Amino acid sequence: MSKLLDSEIKYLKTVGPKRAELLNEELDIYTWEDLMTYFPYRHTDRSKFYKINEISANMPMVQLVGKISHLQEIPGKRFRRLTAKLQDNTGQIELVWFRGINIIKDIIKPGQNYVVFGKANLVKNSGLSIPHPEIESVEKWKNKPATGLMPHYNTSEAMKKNGLHSRAIQKLQEVLIQSLENNIPETLPDWMLKKYHLIKRADAIRAIHFPKHVDELSKAEYRLKFEELFYIQLGMLKAKIRRKAATPGYVFPEIGEYFNHFYHNQLPFELTEAQKRVIREIRHDMATGRHMNRLLQGDVGSGKTLVALFCMLIAIDNGFQASLMVPTEVLAQQHFQSIKKFLDGMNLRVELLTGSIKRKDRVPIHEGLRNGDVNILIGTHALLEDEVQFQKIGIAIIDEQHRFGVAQRAKLWKKSDTPPHILVMTATPIPRTLAMTVYGDLDVSVIDELPPGRKPIITSHATDAQRLRVFKFMKEQIAAGRQIYVVYPLIYESESMDYKHLEDGVESMLRAFPRPEYQLAVVHGKMKPTDKDYEMQFFKEGKAQIMVATTVIEVGVDVPNASVMIIESAERFGLSQMHQLRGRVGRGAEQSYCILMTKPSLGESTKQRIDIMCRTNDGFEIAEADMKLRGPGDIEGTQQSGLPINLKIASLGKDQQILQFVRNVANLILDRDPNLEAEANTVLKYTLQAQNKNKLLWRKIS
Ligand code: ADP
Ligand code: MG
Repeated sequence: MSKLLDSEIKYLKTVGPKRAELLNEELDIYTWEDLMTYFPYRHTDRSKFYKINEISANMPMVQLVGKISHLQEIPGKRFRRLTAKLQDNTGQIELVWFRGINIIKDIIKPGQNYVVFGKANLVKNSGLSIPHPEIESVEKWKNKPATGLMPHYNTSEAMKKNGLHSRAIQKLQEVLIQSLENNIPETLPDWMLKKYHLIKRADAIRAIHFPKHVDELSKAEYRLKFEELFYIQLGMLKAKIRRKAATPGYVFPEIGEYFNHFYHNQLPFELTEAQKRVIREIRHDMATGRHMNRLLQGDVGSGKTLVALFCMLIAIDNGFQASLMVPTEVLAQQHFQSIKKFLDGMNLRVELLTGSIKRKDRVPIHEGLRNGDVNILIGTHALLEDEVQFQKIGIAIIDEQHRFGVAQRAKLWKKSDTPPHILVMTATPIPRTLAMTVYGDLDVSVIDELPPGRKPIITSHATDAQRLRVFKFMKEQIAAGRQIYVVYPLIYESESMDYKHLEDGVESMLRAFPRPEYQLAVVHGKMKPTDKDYEMQFFKEGKAQIMVATTVIEVGVDVPNASVMIIESAERFGLSQMHQLRGRVGRGAEQSYCILMTKPSLGESTKQRIDIMCRTNDGFEIAEADMKLRGPGDIEGTQQSGLPINLKIASLGKDQQILQFVRNVANLILDRDPNLEAEANTVLKYTLQAQNKNKLLWRKIS
């Protein structure tokens, strides 16, 4: 390892203590290596000149050359501004400054030629205009070494105030790379460079900070992204191997009587291919003698419960008990009812344990668990209490796992000396790539198919101008016997804001759907649980045709007769949340609809979200799109993972193909050489060790 790269940043020429402090505090740059791997977030092409008549507002930054004239200072009520015209032989365009006006006035000599670089915007009344362009006289520009592609680095306000803007960072990179000479060690073995057509690390580093041309830049980016994602995967897969070797699991070799009887005599429908595949994957896991730790993802309604039931039956066939834990009382009830119905007549004891079950009624359940009488236990957090002791628990299943913390999951493990197999299920689709990175040491199964006969929900977009038509449609649906949800956003965490919004909604609904012809149920988060239950029941029994609600109905409401979901102020919802809400309808045999109401003019990203919702019902596609639009940090489920996803160059949204690829590469390597002992893999071993050491350090600090 190169000692030079570990040098503190303040010892780099031209940095000094003041700037070192800024780099430490603002960008977490402490060492030379930190700076070297502080990569630009984009590059702009300064090798090309555009003509003014080629420019439009939807182009990125462009470079122009021409004569500057008509320098003019315009006083404003609050701000003055300086404008000028730039002219070439194809036309003219406005340049404008709001700050630094005096300096610019000093620099620019009207009538002379300048190289101008900036982003054109369309401005009312004055056409195209470039705010705050970079500007340089043609003479000065000619005397500079060819710049070509220019890197842009993120910096903070505090840094800019002290002159540490993007250009200055690039200068530091220049000093750094000179100081390093040839001390940029390679982190991938030779055979990998050859086999996967990767350029050397040293070349990639140089090219990312100082690319000569686009081709070189894209090779550098690929190499660095490859490396970054590869080591994450290698580390995770290696940890998985270690865990599997260290933790023996129960062996369930048998597919026995219960499983078979259920499959042949009780199952009211054919399993989907996806369900069969997942059951096979799980069966295989549980027969190996290794401990299973598996995440099962499947969209709302894809039939995860049934898969869970099959797994529980395998455990029971092998003489073990099983548990299913869910986040809410309502869900626990639902599962309990449906599983009891499935198992009707099979002589298995299924029990329900939730917070609302009275102490004295728990005693026989506890007893039955201890003496092995109870085969399946379904419940909420109550399952985790100390009194709950199993005779022999073989599998613990958790539904909607993102609602439980890591600590709670760990508690389940400790219910037995040999930990039970673990299956966690989620309907909040985590994009495959993210699951791979975040839950890299879990196995992931996916049900990517809905049971047959489900009609896809038809989703459309409407604004207030179409409200009367929406009301008319609602009345038609009600006349046909259907029920309707109308959901208002929870704007802030503050429930009072939320309530206000809902109140307006209730008023306007009451006007359009007057009593006694129509009945409304109203549910929001601020209500007493008993009132909430009453209103829910009112709707469930069909006494109300419309339920006006906040997002509290997101989880656990199951009314098959409800076929229309109206989401008000849909612009305020994230994609995943809209998808979850939409999942409340489409549960019965009828065609279902979702209408997204918004204000008339929408921003670009809102428009994209609405479009995706109207185009697809596929939760995974939506999750992927969500990740691309928002970045992975906000996606539900990542916070609990406990892993920092601080990527320096790769993007989980955009680089999914590379991620898939490097995961396969890492798998191949570990298949042949699980401890990285081969000489050809020495570099991998040491680089991974060094990275783990850094991670440990990171954990200690934070
Ligand atoms: P989720 O994955 O959202 O938990 P559920 O397990 O609740 O979905 O299943 C939704 C509904 O689909 C249930 O009523 C279930 O009985 C039904 N179902 C499950 N699998 C099938 C299948 N293969 N064919 C038809 N219906 C199915
Ligand atoms: Mg479910």
